[in-house]
Amino acid sequence: MADVLPEVADYVVVGAGSAGCVVAARLSEDPNVRVVLLEAGGRDTNPWIHLPVGYAKTMYHPELSWNYLTEPEPNLDNRQLIWPRGRVLGGSSSLNGLIYIRGQREDYDHWRQLGCTGWSFADVLPYFKRSEDNERPGSELRGRGGPLAVSDLRQNDPLVATFVQAAVEAGIPRNDDFNGPTQEGVGSPQTTTRNGLRWSTARAFLKPAMGRPNLAVISNAHSTGVVMQGNRATGVRVKRHGAELVVRATREVILCGGAINSPQLLLLSGIGPAAELAQHGIPVVRDMPQVGRNLQDHLQARMVYKLNQPMGLNGRKNSLLGLAAMGLEYILTRSGPLTWSAGVANVFARVLPGSASPDVQFHMLPFSSDKPGPDLHRFAGMTVSTCQLRPESRGTITLANADPFAKALIHANYLATETDRRCMIEGLRLIRRVMAQPAIAPLVAGEYLPGEAAETDEALLAHIRATSSTIFHPSGTCRMGGDAASVVDPELRVRGIEGLRVADASVMPTVVSGNTNAACIMIGEKCADLLKASAKQRLAA
Ligand SMILES: Cc1cc2nc3c(=O)[nH]c(=O)nc-3n(C[C@H](O)[C@H](O)[C@H](O)COP(=O)(O)OP(=O)(O)OC[C@H]3O[C@@H](n4cnc5c(N)ncnc54)[C@H](O)[C@@H]3O)c2cc1C
Repeated sequence: MADVLPEVADYVVVGAGSAGCVVAARLSEDPNVRVVLLEAGGRDTNPWIHLPVGYAKTMYHPELSWNYLTEPEPNLDNRQLIWPRGRVLGGSSSLNGLIYIRGQREDYDHWRQLGCTGWSFADVLPYFKRSEDNERPGSELRGRGGPLAVSDLRQNDPLVATFVQAAVEAGIPRNDDFNGPTQEGVGSPQTTTRNGLRWSTARAFLKPAMGRPNLAVISNAHSTGVVMQGNRATGVRVKRHGAELVVRATREVILCGGAINSPQLLLLSGIGPAAELAQHGIPVVRDMPQVGRNLQDHLQARMVYKLNQPMGLNGRKNSLLGLAAMGLEYILTRSGPLTWSAGVANVFARVLPGSASPDVQFHMLPFSSDKPGPDLHRFAGMTVSTCQLRPESRGTITLANADPFAKALIHANYLATETDRRCMIEGLRLIRRVMAQPAIAPLVAGEYLPGEAAETDEALLAHIRATSSTIFHPSGTCRMGGDAASVVDPELRVRGIEGLRVADASVMPTVVSGNTNAACIMIGEKCADLLKASAKQRLAA
């Protein structure tokens, strides 16, 4: 890996996360193009990154995660929620829960209806397929031979099979491929793993590209803003090992810092709501009221069940013998609990009247804990969480001050609408319905969270307000659209600015109905193609 920051490149990409690694790797396929990829975090040498279940150790790691904290959330009893985000090569794909789910075709068709020409499902499917090396046979919907390994979850836990059966008894169809013709149903997800190892975008896309002389991957390089000349982006300011540097971009700058950092970088660079910029003494380059607005996330509320038999993982994790057995299973077969994703079974279902496609997703885990992480309960337990797939509530990312190292302020504004509250309550009720089915009810000793006493809507909502947490999918803060108010146009160009694009979760006009990593990788793929097409046009002109 390069250790000296080049002074100039054709393209400067900020942020080596899910999208940024893809953009840099794809652009540098052309040996005549010089690419610099800047990453605020370090290299991905921590071994817990590569062990799939290592996310329990890495997601709150002070060096590997930005560990954001929301402002007090008015509809969640004024609690402040921790928002981990990757701060390392691979970004959040280096510490995420590994689930590979694209969302619904309706999500992308909706983007197209919002004016995002070129982003319907038919338009984006080739990019999903291009990135993917699925261990299942290729098909109309599934890609093989791409850089990103996608594999079936290797689990045969009887509790998971029992849960799936109970969901089927509750009327939810069995689904073995959430990226297949329909998302609705219950089953186990595919994961971004191969042979028991995590496939982050750093491993999938950067590692094979690292030896290219035209690609400089610079870690520990915190970008503090975009260099502007009038309305043109000409480079990026960087702080590295105490030094303040500038790298010039002769063609374009691409921001891939994620849904919190990309809007922050635009604001620091004078692109954002004029009043907010003035408040922090930042000269206005372009008044863009939508920068940092339209923040969306998936909120999850959990139900925990005590079991009357020693099933699931809690017992094994809490005993030395059990731990050793899991370790041995991993070493010998590269499977078992150490390879599990953050949901070992998922449900996609409809709980609101009139929903044409699933409006909730469940993540089922055959273990339980007080909060996401490695500390499991001493009793035998299991967890099922629900999240609303298409929340109406919108939050904001704003600057705390003009210091590029100060964390931006996050107002997630969860549960601001009646529909959102209703959807979360109905999700919990559907979990209860599943857990009452004959396949699983005899194994349940009791509902630990929220507890059977929480019967009414008010009691369930009180549980949601008191305990819910993020499921880590912030997006939408540099909204793409066909309208003049959107932050980026359908070619991901920041409106009114030359030579500046954004490609990451922040451009999603609406959060996709599922886990967001696959969609971010697709955005990276498409951005690289758009850049290549623009370069060709410039040459031809
Ligand atoms: C704990 C956790 C679990 C998750 N589980 C799943 C899951 O199971 N499945 C799924 O599909 N999705 C999951 N997600 C969500 C998914 O991983 C993210 O939506 C996706 O990775 C976001 O991609 P991105 O490109 O927008 O940003 P990121 O991948 O976060 O990348 C942004 C990168 O930019 C860097 N950066 C930021 N600011 C600067 C700066 N100023 N200068 C230089 N570099 C900068 C960051 O350090 C980071 O490396 C999870 C996320 C988390 C955090």
